[in-house]
Amino acid sequence: MKNIDLDKLEKVSFEIEKGAFEPKELHCSACKKKMKPADMEVQLDDNIYIKLKVFECSSCHKQSLGLEEAKKLDKAMLFRRALSKDFKMERNLSFDGDNYTFRIPKEFTQGVSKRKIEIVPLGAKEFCAVVG
Ligand SMILES: [Zn+2]
Repeated sequence: MKNIDLDKLEKVSFEIEKGAFEPKELHCSACKKKMKPADMEVQLDDNIYIKLKVFECSSCHKQSLGLEEAKKLDKAMLFRRALSKDFKMERNLSFDGDNYTFRIPKEFTQGVSKRKIEIVPLGAKEFCAVVG
């Protein structure tokens, strides 16, 4: 198991295999050798880690990710950004007797067709909302 620091991640470039969602095996694009599957732990924050299944070339140490794992990494980086709160805005909450409501700026809802929102609780007072 290897640890990689997310701040250094830009320097660790993963090659993403297009069309290979969850590949069982991969070949190195440089050496054409069969790559070895490895578990990698990516540190997102002091105590938040995600595990990724990567493939590593034993000759040139190039690392590849399947599409599924790449998506997982993308999501994790979004969560990390959300949790670090370097970008945030304040909205007023209204209470209608049962529910609290707030307005979502239209810039956040481009391409919204279903007018549905999925709410994933993250903690007692924190959640992540995905507009459909
Ligand atoms: Zn290689």
